[in-house]
Amino acid sequence: MGLPYPKQFLPFRGHTLIEHTVSLFQGLTEELIVPVPAPFLARFRDLLKGQARVIPGGESRFESVKNGFLALNQLHDEDLVLIHDAARPFLDVSTLKHAIEQTNRYGAVIYAARATDTVKLTDNNKRIINTLDRNSIFLAQTPQIFQAGILKKCYKIYKSELDHPTDEAAMLEACGFPVHIVESTPRNKKITLKEDMDHIESNNTRIGHGYDVHRFDEKRPLVLCGLKLPTEPGLLGHSDADVALHALMDALLGACALGDIGQHFPDTDARYKGIESSLLLKKVLKLLDKRGVELINIDLTILAQIPKLAPFMSAMRQNLALLLNLPEERVNIKATTTEGLGYIGEKKGMAAHCVVLVSQSKGENIA
Ligand code: MG
Repeated sequence: MGLPYPKQFLPFRGHTLIEHTVSLFQGLTEELIVPVPAPFLARFRDLLKGQARVIPGGESRFESVKNGFLALNQLHDEDLVLIHDAARPFLDVSTLKHAIEQTNRYGAVIYAARATDTVKLTDNNKRIINTLDRNSIFLAQTPQIFQAGILKKCYKIYKSELDHPTDEAAMLEACGFPVHIVESTPRNKKITLKEDMDHIESNNTRIGHGYDVHRFDEKRPLVLCGLKLPTEPGLLGHSDADVALHALMDALLGACALGDIGQHFPDTDARYKGIESSLLLKKVLKLLDKRGVELINIDLTILAQIPKLAPFMSAMRQNLALLLNLPEERVNIKATTTEGLGYIGEKKGMAAHCVVLVSQSKGENIA
């Protein structure tokens, strides 16, 4: 990165990179050890006071991790040791539970990313020898999680001076212990270049708001959040009149400065007559995808005096999460009456508000 100090001191989300990464593990681990370059020991200790035990690292990653392992107190063979690189601050901690279960089963598990580019094997002159089957190629990342007993055995028998392993899994492999992978998400990126940091530091989140109203129509089915609900009345509209998805789509388009659904799917266009709004949502999501925009979370409020929506809330949330390909914890739906006030209270129709947060991936332009 060409910095006069370790990149772990770079500002990240209001703190330093190291503070952020360490904070991911608070409450998850019994002991947290951070091996660091000796000249910066005091500064790291100052930053991580009360959060982690800071110790001198070694000449290489391998030596640093070994120092960290040896510094762990009262380690039992069945304990798990989790090794993580401070330069991977985007670790999705919710996937750790699965990785830990796998480690209890297999003894050694590492995060790895599926190769997405075609992989070539070359000789020293950079001439291609072979094209490898990328379906069986995975790129090793961290966390790497091991049963302490296995690591202890490997550190005893492994001659690191002969080989310079770039990760701990390589040591286990050399010692004959099986290592399994868990597939990581693309989010688990490593910060290696100054540009990575610049992209993160630049404000790449955007907000969008959508609002929609539809009048009741007793002759039509009620469709909300992509589900045909077994209740009435339904809503009048050119499409299926899914007021919730309409507000959501407007919020998504709004976040990307792409206008509104009226512009993209005009109600004068016969193609959209009676169309399921979930199909329109798919088109909107494709537009976002093309621009490298990722949805972070949504918050949807439905205003309805009638019918009672409580029995359908959880099904609607599930379906919305499915349509958006988001975990349910990032999808919120609320419903409210208007206490009999206004056109909603007079049972003339239904309205919906939606707020979304999106982020723009590295190197892409939203508009
Ligand atoms: Mg509408």
